[in-house]
Amino acid sequence: MAFELPALPYANNALEPYITARTLDFHHGKHHNAYIVNLNNLTKDTPLASAPLERIILDTVGDAAKAGIFNNAAQVWNHTFYWKAMKPKGGGAPTGNVAARIDEAFGGYVAFREQFKTAAVTQFGSGWAWLVLDGGSLKIVKTGNADTPIAHGQTPLITCDVWEHAYYLDYQNRRPDYVDTFLDHLVNWDFAADNLG
Ligand code: MN
Repeated sequence: MAFELPALPYANNALEPYITARTLDFHHGKHHNAYIVNLNNLTKDTPLASAPLERIILDTVGDAAKAGIFNNAAQVWNHTFYWKAMKPKGGGAPTGNVAARIDEAFGGYVAFREQFKTAAVTQFGSGWAWLVLDGGSLKIVKTGNADTPIAHGQTPLITCDVWEHAYYLDYQNRRPDYVDTFLDHLVNWDFAADNLG
């Protein structure tokens, strides 16, 4: 039972003008798909081929001999999560329980927004910025390359992919503009509320 590329949760042009169909076609159809193909090749005819993705990630994290499997499994998981962390007409300040928890952890949405943007912009090279639940508290973390909070006992609520392939066609080198757009027009707070439970 091979891993399969999950469909995007919206049409490839649904996030325009903020993220174009051209970016989503490459990002989902080429990059995300490549991680799926690689993971299938690396786990073929092994017990991991039929294991849940989360189990593969937890079983291979920190094992240098299995770095290829970890990197591809984590990138499959991270991308599937990232698509859901955006929606058309998303962005802006959250409401309800997510807003209350952000107020409690960061002292308000404005402070949260500033700290999340800083994390996303200062992740050196490829990686991800996340809002996570860690030991009962909300935290902002950044991870390098394929690394993922679920490998470290944290529960992700949202993520922003800051690999260049996520934004270069639309924003070139202007990562701060892409992060502003993610926060103001794309982030899916309903998804964060679901993940908060
Ligand atoms: Mn990506």
